[in-house]
Amino acid sequence: MTKSQIAHVAVLAFPFGTHAAPLLSLVHRIAAAAPHVTFSFFSTPQSNDSLFSRQTENNKGFNNIIPYDVADGLPKGYVPSGNPVEPVALFLKSMTENFKKAIDIAMAESGKKITCFLTDAFYWFAGEMAAVMNVKWVPLWTAAPYSLLVHVDTDIIRDKIINSVGDSECQILNSIHGFSAVSVADLPEGIVTDIESPFAILAYKMGVMLPCATAVAINSFEEVDPICVNELKSRFQKFLNVGPFSLASPPPPMISDDHGCIEWLDKYKTASVTYISFGTVITPPPHELAALAEALEVCKFPFLWSFRGNPEEKLPNGFLERTKTYGKFVPWAPQLQILGHGSVGAFVTHCGWNSVLESIICGVPMICRPFFGDQRLNTQVLEKVWGIGIGIENHVITKKGAVKALKSTLSREGKKMREKIGRFKEPAMKAVEPNGSSTENFKTLLEIVTD
Ligand code: UDP
Repeated sequence: MTKSQIAHVAVLAFPFGTHAAPLLSLVHRIAAAAPHVTFSFFSTPQSNDSLFSRQTENNKGFNNIIPYDVADGLPKGYVPSGNPVEPVALFLKSMTENFKKAIDIAMAESGKKITCFLTDAFYWFAGEMAAVMNVKWVPLWTAAPYSLLVHVDTDIIRDKIINSVGDSECQILNSIHGFSAVSVADLPEGIVTDIESPFAILAYKMGVMLPCATAVAINSFEEVDPICVNELKSRFQKFLNVGPFSLASPPPPMISDDHGCIEWLDKYKTASVTYISFGTVITPPPHELAALAEALEVCKFPFLWSFRGNPEEKLPNGFLERTKTYGKFVPWAPQLQILGHGSVGAFVTHCGWNSVLESIICGVPMICRPFFGDQRLNTQVLEKVWGIGIGIENHVITKKGAVKALKSTLSREGKKMREKIGRFKEPAMKAVEPNGSSTENFKTLLEIVTD
């Protein structure tokens, strides 16, 4: 057997939020270039079902990617309490053992030892497993470079805060990384607040372990934030920006347009429609949904809303009927194609990194309502540093605030933001060209993972 036929990559996915899909997208690219290498893809049954059934078409020809189920850690008969953090905490409790069990099965079935771990960056324990097995560990960070930096530098940030007297929160962070305009309150939970939660412990251990990784990959491009990228390069053995994944080749699977979004958008003039989505996890509280609906009704701008749940039940009485000539609701949208449609002029978003990247490469300014994790940090950077988004006042949607943000984004201010986005969009496009930075980094990644 040749070296590549022996190679067996264990891919460990984080099954919550939009983490597993970008990892699978990266595996598709590597597997296409290395057809003799075996990839065992580990995630929970729910996550594997959704990834591998949604992408059946795309998985055709990928006989070398084999999904394996990992127990989700939920007790038998578990009834969701509605708190989205609960299943995550239960999963984290037993994940190390559960992954180990599934990996043993994959090794026994394939008859091949693991030669490399390609994992979500959260999985610091994969670094330990890789060290014991004397193989490589390549974690993938699925968010922005600056949010990775704050996890890697958590100790420095905590020390600085304890020892700073009289400095404002912004000054403290500015003195560490030149994070102008970002305050301690914008940091993800677990850096300086709520530091004993299971998730904070996971993120902290990740920050400590990542410098030991053979290489750290990220769904981003070097030119997005060169200062931060250079900082990270100095922390890691190798830091490989291999994105944006939605521009990469082979491209991620097209989401079918079952609800006719594109045809609906065709009716509207350039940059006139507001697209709304809060990602795969979040539904804003009822009063904010109502406030956004009222603002849309005041402005009468056409809108397309990817709505989690039943809009009839969750929005003000009669709203759907009153706005039916200029508003459209869908349960799931082909987001990338929508953002890429010329008639979309604003994106109301929670600022998940996948959404931010997609908005950047499509040149659409964002109206930001962040909720948790890296979303506040993304909002601050988009608004205060890059100038390509508008933050909703106090991170809470009110009718007045939403009207102001919508009017401003769909007018002259939006035009300015669109011009600024070009400064990110162009390098993103270049990065994935044949000699672009992400293409070159991908070649390095491919060699590390498959050798
Ligand atoms: N998405 C989509 N259609 C929808 C809503 C979301 O295709 O109707 C995709 C979107 O394109 C993005 C992902 O779901 O790739 C959301 O990822 P993000 O990091 O923004 O948020 P998360 O889901 O992790 O909160």
